[in-house]
Amino acid sequence: AKNLGRSRYLFFDQCLYENMLGKLELEEKLRHSLEHGEFSLVYQPIYQANGQRMVSAEALLRWPHATPDVFIPLAEETGLILPLGLWVLEQALAQAKAWRDQGHDIVVSVNVSHSQLHQQQFADKVRELIQASELPSSSLQLEITETALLEDWQGSIANIQLLRDMGVRIALDDFGTGYSSLSHLQQMPLDCLKIDKSFMARVHESERDKALVEALVSLARALSLKVVAEGVEVEEQVRIAKALGIHYLQGFYLARPKKAEELSFNPPSEPGP
Ligand code: C2E
Ligand code: CA
Ligand code: CA
Ligand code: CA
Repeated sequence: AKNLGRSRYLFFDQCLYENMLGKLELEEKLRHSLEHGEFSLVYQPIYQANGQRMVSAEALLRWPHATPDVFIPLAEETGLILPLGLWVLEQALAQAKAWRDQGHDIVVSVNVSHSQLHQQQFADKVRELIQASELPSSSLQLEITETALLEDWQGSIANIQLLRDMGVRIALDDFGTGYSSLSHLQQMPLDCLKIDKSFMARVHESERDKALVEALVSLARALSLKVVAEGVEVEEQVRIAKALGIHYLQGFYLARPKKAEELSFNPPSEPGP
């Protein structure tokens, strides 16, 4: 049985995984991995558009057996995202503390799932973790998606308000891909909008896409929010992002997600694909 398991692993592909191993087995594997320390975090720098100083880093979860697009939804379905999400927060805060102790004042940005945000005690848990980390609350940013908010508007907003009152920063992730209305946006206690990479992808090739990003930026400005452009892959996108007044940049052109020990705090010099 062990041999079979091994060869199945060798032939792994995401589709096979879903169909052959089945969700139960994958769920069991996720649970086992959490207990045995098989998850890890990588960090992707976020730079100031002008001056290109690294101001924050997004923590991104890694698992040896599948990509986040596959295992995160499953972790959400099974509820494992709750303990896993706490583990991510704890790790990311410990990393931010280590950076701070080395003299790097970097905000760590952590993705939060809707099920975490809908938990009544979520804000309290975050408060405890921040206190244990000995970091100021402003060293933590939480990335939330519009869909996460819309599923339980009252509960989510209550948590976000508590977190923001504590000094935690809140970013609306994948901005533009959800369904929030302007009035929703106006009611959200936010610090920053992350323009989804699908809008940035052709910003240098299509006047239409550029106009759309420009509109998202003026919306952000009207709400006094900072703007991050995600998915910056080529120099042309950097140039346009700056011209449009986008404050922060994130993407493979500047830096790929890396293990904490491989991260460089210098401005990206002559980055290439
Ligand atoms: P996201 O939050 O939108 O994260 C950004 C994704 O874009 C990351 O994919 C990152 O590697 C990728 N990316 C960054 N720069 C570029 C670029 O220039 N071009 C392109 N094409 N992609 C770029 P990743 O790491 O595969 O994560 C996928 C998604 O999984 C994330 O999307 C997020 O929704 C989710 N995720 C990752 N880690 C966590 C976590 O700890 N908790 C939760 N709840 N979700 C997570
Ligand atoms: Ca994110
Ligand atoms: Ca995003
Ligand atoms: Ca995304």
